[in-house]
Amino acid sequence: MISSETRICGLIGDPVTHSVSPVMHNAAFDFLGLDYIYLPFAVTKDRLARAVDGVRGLNIRGLNVTIPHKVAVIPFLDRLEPLAERIGAVNTIVNDDGVLTGHNTDAAGFLKALQGRGIEPKGKVVVLLGAGGAARAIAFALAEKGARLTILNRKQELDWAVELAGSVSSFSGRKVKALELNEPNLKAALVPADVVVNATSVGMRPNDGQSPVSRELVRQGLVVFDIVYSPVRTRLLSEAEQAGAVTVNGLDMLVWQGALAFELWTGAKAPVEVMRKEVARALGGTPFGGAVGAGERKTTSVALVGFMGAGKTAVGRVLAEKMNKELVELDSLIVEKAGKSIARIFDQEGEIVFRQLEMEVTREVAGRKNQIIACGGGVVLNKINIDRLKAEAVVVYLMASPEAIQERVVAGDAEVRPLLGDGDKSLAIRELLAFRQPFYRRAADIIIDTSRMGIEAVAEQIIAGLKRE
Ligand code: NAP
Repeated sequence: MISSETRICGLIGDPVTHSVSPVMHNAAFDFLGLDYIYLPFAVTKDRLARAVDGVRGLNIRGLNVTIPHKVAVIPFLDRLEPLAERIGAVNTIVNDDGVLTGHNTDAAGFLKALQGRGIEPKGKVVVLLGAGGAARAIAFALAEKGARLTILNRKQELDWAVELAGSVSSFSGRKVKALELNEPNLKAALVPADVVVNATSVGMRPNDGQSPVSRELVRQGLVVFDIVYSPVRTRLLSEAEQAGAVTVNGLDMLVWQGALAFELWTGAKAPVEVMRKEVARALGGTPFGGAVGAGERKTTSVALVGFMGAGKTAVGRVLAEKMNKELVELDSLIVEKAGKSIARIFDQEGEIVFRQLEMEVTREVAGRKNQIIACGGGVVLNKINIDRLKAEAVVVYLMASPEAIQERVVAGDAEVRPLLGDGDKSLAIRELLAFRQPFYRRAADIIIDTSRMGIEAVAEQIIAGLKRE
């Protein structure tokens, strides 16, 4: 209920129509029962000074600031928090009895998102694409944490990158290189890199078919952080995932920069998971960028899908234990029903009979509650199976790179892996995985890259993902 006591926060920018900050903050205020409201204000450049004065006049508690005002707003403020001063851009204003302080939570939000994935910047070689407002915040945040930076920006505005590299170098005492963003420079810069960050707007809707890094330059093990959040799964991230890179999306940063602003205004601990869920819903995807939002469904089971060797049974066992649910293995049920091994079913009766059995056991199991269902690798090929499973289960795709799969399955496993045949196993895995990948993605509510993770960690990540769903 809005009253004369209600504290007002908001966003100034031009445009503000597509911002998800109002849903994110209002959901967080509601969740904590705080008498606050968050409103978007479209403010053109010529009205910026009067808008900021209005913050004092109306005793508005605080604002977020977005394009095109992040730099222009600075002269109208009373104080700058040191990091915002260094960066030269403000994305959050706090009003304490008429004294306006400018903060930059983009920087800390970026670090929280990176560290939340277990990646510490200290000593890492980072390639930063872009030299705009967000890139400035990220460059200082990374330099402050001891990362080694190279900044690439397109030719027309290379001066911005040179200026940014100079400021960050003198602040950190470490040399920061600035290069033109082109294929040869990017290729060379990525050779020693641990992390690449896209802080350009390339790949953002409506240009979501574009990527600032060509597919061939992304390799397994590289951390690829795309701060673009619309769409959540950008082309860069999806190609990076296919190459076996570790990916971080812009949604995490968006939520964290919002959470930090929320804490500055309210003094309360931000309900980060509530904010994440609202933002994911508003952006039309799951927090993992999965295909279908399961948030509206009341599900008590989890179905694990993925290629052979993705760890469905091993993870399922740990998950069942942690969540106190029953583990059901579809392939074991098929073996029980047929009275023979899977290899033998394939040998004697062929794949079609196997798929029929698979469909039968899926139907029998799908409606039951409180199960962890470890599915066979090919369950996703039949949409009827997936629709049945989804009636009661969140579908989790355990992704793994071809190399990880080969390491996990090939040794002595041919008896139970009839689909790989007798030829070149590595080639067979690549081909079959390439064929099945779109089916797994389409089925998934949650996607987890297991390539470089242990079983416990995967199970924990699934539980965290389910909480967000
Ligand atoms: P900005 O200040 O306008 O900077 C845009 C950057 O993108 C500049 O470096 C620009 O290069 C570069 N760029 C634009 N088009 C390009 C192209 N075709 N090829 C190569 N480079 C290109 O914007 P910003 O505020 O930094 O935002 C950049 C992106 O980050 C946006 O997509 C924004 O939505 C996203 N963002 C996300 C978060 C988050 O929380 N996840 C926070 C802030 C921003 P020039 O200098 O050459 O123009």
